[in-house]
Amino acid sequence: MKHSRRAIAAYLAVLCAAAAAAVVAGWTPLGARIDGDAYDWLLSSARKDQPAASVIVAIDEPTLNHQGGLRNLRRILADAIARLKEVQPAAIVVDAILADTGWAEEDQKLEEALRSAPHLVLAADLLPDGSGWEDPLPRFRRHAEAVGHVHADPDPVSRAIPLEKAAGRVRRWALALEAYRVAFHCSIEESPESVRAGSVLIPAGRRDGRALYVRYGHAIPRLSAGGSLAGARGKVAFVGVTALSAVKDRLMTPHGEMLPGVEIHAQAFETLVDGRFLHAVRPAVSLLSVLTITALAGLIFFFARGWSAYLLATVVLAAAHVAPYIAFRWDYIFPAFMPAAAAWLSLSAAAAWRYFFLNRDLRRAEAERRRYQQAIQFVAHEMRSPLTAIQGSSEIMTRYSLDESKRKQIANMIHSESKRLARMIQTFLDVERLSAGEMQLRPESFPLRELLEECVTRARALADRKNISIQIGCCAEGKLRADRELMEYAVYNLLNNAVKYSPAGRGIYVSAEWTGKELRIAVRDQGIGMTAQEVKQIFRKFYRTAAAEQSGEFGAGIGLSLVEQIVHCHQGRIEVESAPGQGSCFTIVLPHMAFAAEVPASSAISH
Ligand code: ADP
Repeated sequence: MKHSRRAIAAYLAVLCAAAAAAVVAGWTPLGARIDGDAYDWLLSSARKDQPAASVIVAIDEPTLNHQGGLRNLRRILADAIARLKEVQPAAIVVDAILADTGWAEEDQKLEEALRSAPHLVLAADLLPDGSGWEDPLPRFRRHAEAVGHVHADPDPVSRAIPLEKAAGRVRRWALALEAYRVAFHCSIEESPESVRAGSVLIPAGRRDGRALYVRYGHAIPRLSAGGSLAGARGKVAFVGVTALSAVKDRLMTPHGEMLPGVEIHAQAFETLVDGRFLHAVRPAVSLLSVLTITALAGLIFFFARGWSAYLLATVVLAAAHVAPYIAFRWDYIFPAFMPAAAAWLSLSAAAAWRYFFLNRDLRRAEAERRRYQQAIQFVAHEMRSPLTAIQGSSEIMTRYSLDESKRKQIANMIHSESKRLARMIQTFLDVERLSAGEMQLRPESFPLRELLEECVTRARALADRKNISIQIGCCAEGKLRADRELMEYAVYNLLNNAVKYSPAGRGIYVSAEWTGKELRIAVRDQGIGMTAQEVKQIFRKFYRTAAAEQSGEFGAGIGLSLVEQIVHCHQGRIEVESAPGQGSCFTIVLPHMAFAAEVPASSAISH
């Protein structure tokens, strides 16, 4: 079916609002949190314990207990590195900040251990205010092949580490990357989009702070620094504090574990060795997904009908939820919240539009169809009596030879009945167009008495047959300002009903009273009457009371609904009083502007 332009504009506006709301929601802290949780879940579900190219030389509780605690850290380090050198690891990476001068003897020992350590990588951290680096003392630094930063900014989960960090005028690569470079004897090259270390291309763009998503889950052996370090042979040894009581940098991983910094660096290193990187999709891709989902939702509820629309909507909904999972399988990090929000919002918005606008359009079409049917019924019903008169009269004229005066009388009758027919059709069409809002009233001023007399004269034809008298009682003098044709139709209809629904021999009383505020045109009969329950329904199209049905009077139950419409169009109302078996009184009440009362001549003189 065709939709109105307004409905389509509203549809597009609703869809745009849904898409915008989804995008904004995706950027809120809640959206970021849900994305983070979804990422953690996906990473954990893809977890595989893989063999590691590194080991952790852990300065753990037993080591600290044996060697006098953390204040002896440099001595412990010196001892571990000295022993590590013996097993010839691929590289030694020390995750400890050696920026300040310690005890001379210990520093001396450590320096000796570091001297000639193969492929040594030392750590530097950002100063707390971010203005520069806490670098290793030069006496240690000069033995190192590289210095890498150990900065990580968890949020609060440590999902990615920045491969590059700049402070002051110095920029440093991450400890894990430096360890990789040293261990695999390669150089680091960079472009705005990525970082290359030897044959490995890391998708860490400058725009995202060169974030490397760490694939946790590598089974990295932990060797106690105080124990045998033979397991470090040929491996990259990450030396650092792991003792719960001493470690300062324990971070939460996506797997929900708290890991010491040294292990996080080792896991990052393993990620580099693995060479299978996770790519965060660009914001433009997320936006595109939102637009695609919204467009699909829009198309579904615009074109599809019934179950097929809801089935397709379910498919889109499922796809929006599953997309991050599938993308993850292909190493892409796709936001979970934004597309899901887009799917829910746009599908519900589209479905709501469908319900309100489309169903409204359908209801309108249905109402139009019904009105049309009723119109046909009404015309058929109302046309019957004048047509019968015309048919009968013309038959008489053709069958019998009539004298001139009789012929003239019948011709006049045919003429007036056909005029009545034409007027009836016109009135009916006018009322229909009025109620459809397609026509304006044609108000004119005319004497109220004329209207009543005209209607009474027309109704008398039927009343006489039933021996019913119609009297005009009090009639306010003045001019009525209304659509004459329609008002006549309304009053005549009330009179006609009063005649139809009164037993023979009763009386009908018509009055028009001006209260100063409103005009009350009443038609009172002594007919079959109605119950209060029935009165509530008589203005519904096609409603007829049981008593009316039994009366044998023909009726379609349309007249009163038209009368009501006419009165409403004149800003008036209609009141009904009725009692079964006693009669009814229908009163048309019109507002003061519909009537201009005539000032009696006597009072005009006195002023
Ligand atoms: P119709 O007279 O063609 O059935 P109307 O819409 O004019 O349709 O009236 C609806 C119904 O209201 C009638 O069928 C009848 O039951 C009831 N009604 C209307 N006027 C009167 C009246 N004066 N006395 C009793 N019942 C009436």
